[in-house]
Amino acid sequence: MVDVITLGELLIDFVPTVSGVSLNDAPAFKKAPGGAPANVAAGLVKLGSTCAFLGKVGDDAFGQFLKATLDEAGVDTSGLIFSKKARTALAFVSLRADGEREFMFYRHPSADMLYEPGEVAFDLIEDAKIFHFGSISLISEPSASATRAALDAARQYGLIISYDPNLRLALWPNPQAAKTGMLSVWESADLIKVSEDEVTFLTGLDDIDQAVAQLWHDQLRLMLVTLGRHGCRYYTRQFRGCVEGFNVKAVDTTGAGDGFVAGMINGLLNHPNAWYDQAELRKVCRFANAVGALTTTQRGAIPALPTRQQVEAFLELKHGNP
Ligand code: ADP
Repeated sequence: MVDVITLGELLIDFVPTVSGVSLNDAPAFKKAPGGAPANVAAGLVKLGSTCAFLGKVGDDAFGQFLKATLDEAGVDTSGLIFSKKARTALAFVSLRADGEREFMFYRHPSADMLYEPGEVAFDLIEDAKIFHFGSISLISEPSASATRAALDAARQYGLIISYDPNLRLALWPNPQAAKTGMLSVWESADLIKVSEDEVTFLTGLDDIDQAVAQLWHDQLRLMLVTLGRHGCRYYTRQFRGCVEGFNVKAVDTTGAGDGFVAGMINGLLNHPNAWYDQAELRKVCRFANAVGALTTTQRGAIPALPTRQQVEAFLELKHGNP
């Protein structure tokens, strides 16, 4: 029995060995575990929650490497499936000197896209408290049906539903399909985390308050808009506000959003009053901002995600700051 289920893509990120180069100019690449829902799972366990990851990788060396990474982090991988039909997904990712992120995906198809409804570990979902997922597994079949089947089960079992749409335009056939796909599960979520860019993409509005008003739905209990180093905004039915971020020396922002989500879910599990008590929610946002900030201070996602002790020591040090 685990507190949280995360479901979705688990893949290899190939990152240039030198920074600030385009994929074309990169001399060599280093392999790193990737996939937002898997990062969130590892982040949660580091913070002290229990978590199982559901998804599919190839029955190959990279799939084994990813399972070992999650096992080592303490994530329950009993619901991770190995495909004999397709390889583990690869993403070559570079942060160019101009700050733009460049992606090149090898998914034609990849194992994660072939995750099927019959492969979902419903027994793990039944006993959990929170179900977290993203939109990448909604892009094509059969993983879209598997995601929806898991989501429906989670709702039926009364889990809290957490959704981070995580826009990856290059993976969708076109921007309109991305928008429609990302919004297709919107009304199933109790908690939604989006970035400023995603809010603008989804609504065409630059004003975040107006955009959130347009994106709000009756089921929703909490919407979070992350603002990079500036922290986050929170919106509930009763109140809204902003919690400033922390000043850190960021070396790689990969995984900051996933760290933030892990901090948020962990915080909500430990402080259930935060759903309706603004002072409590602000503390949880501060905690989540700290997790996000610390994630940027080291390279990679999973290796950079902080432990509870590291977050608490950091917050103690920053005492008196917002
Ligand atoms: P995403 O990775 O999803 O685009 P953000 O970049 O907004 O999300 O980052 C998520 C959270 O991580 C922010 O709300 C903030 O708390 C923290 N964070 C991100 N970048 C920085 C930074 N440069 N300095 C401090 N905190 C950061």
